[in-house]
Amino acid sequence: MRMKKTVSFSKNTTNVFFHILTNCNLKCEHCYINKEQHGENILPIETIESWLKIFIEKNNDANVIFLGGEPTLHPDLPRAIKKAKSLGYNSITVDTNGYLFHNILSKVDPDAVDYFSFSLDGATRKTNDMIRGEGSYDKCIAGIRKTISKGFTTSLIYTVSKKNLSELHTIAPFLKELGITRFFIQVIGIRGQSAENWHEKLQVSRKEWLKTIPFVADKVAKLGITVTYPKVFLNGDEPFACAGLVAKNYFIFPNGRVYQCPICEDFPLHSYSLEGNILLKTPNINETDLFELNILEGCVMNKLIQPDNLSYDSQGKPKYKVACCMLKEEIQGQ
Ligand code: SF4
Ligand code: SF4
Repeated sequence: MRMKKTVSFSKNTTNVFFHILTNCNLKCEHCYINKEQHGENILPIETIESWLKIFIEKNNDANVIFLGGEPTLHPDLPRAIKKAKSLGYNSITVDTNGYLFHNILSKVDPDAVDYFSFSLDGATRKTNDMIRGEGSYDKCIAGIRKTISKGFTTSLIYTVSKKNLSELHTIAPFLKELGITRFFIQVIGIRGQSAENWHEKLQVSRKEWLKTIPFVADKVAKLGITVTYPKVFLNGDEPFACAGLVAKNYFIFPNGRVYQCPICEDFPLHSYSLEGNILLKTPNINETDLFELNILEGCVMNKLIQPDNLSYDSQGKPKYKVACCMLKEEIQGQ
């Protein structure tokens, strides 16, 4: 039987989302990278190694996700992966747009990388390329096929917005045919490029989300692929919790900023900064002050920067709470 479960935040596991550079060969419409806030430098390998060490020393039970920009543009990514492995990270993931620069697949072996995670934002070439750029669909698919043929495990991330929600239901057989092991549905965050194009109203409503996402997730899981998607909307009896208070997620940028909440990344609200390879707490006011606020709408940052997914009754009371963006539903594939 397939099990659907809400994956609550783990106090014991550390997840390190490590942006080793912000450069990218693509210009996706909803890219969340904000160079003014995150810098443009390419982290030297010695710095990457030192920072990896800092986070595993805080907690032996840690996972790392290498991100960019496009992390395969970093010529020393293979060395960073090997270092993470030797330091004892539980799992190592590389998020990529599929261009797989610097011949990365021949410089690491499948034992060292748990997942190459590909981003595709349309079930059709037309929709994906409208969002991610001409040619990116074919390149991503070719990248997935090549990665699997070399014995690596792959996942696929589909960021849902108003622009691609309608074709998500067609993707299941294609994921199976490609040989994808895990499927991550993401929800568009109004930050980076999406915040600049705020007038586009990319967020999907609660009704649209609930009508489509659980149904697609179930369909994909029936094909043996494990599916993870954000909860986004809480039902009346479901408790709200902010991951910033109860989990250990660190979003590291090449300028040394370390956030605990991804929705805060457009602002200088980071709770730590890495200076001279030392992790320092930043002075107030920072994101940790916001985590403490208790509001009827649930997530404070959601209300502040992307309130289009909220709805109120005639008395002005919110009809539901929006969950922490890190709260996920997972359906094991069988
Ligand atoms: S591939 Fe990723 S980093 Fe590059 S532009 Fe697209 S969303 Fe941004
Ligand atoms: S998304 Fe909202 S609830 Fe989650 S860590 Fe950020 S502020 Fe907290």
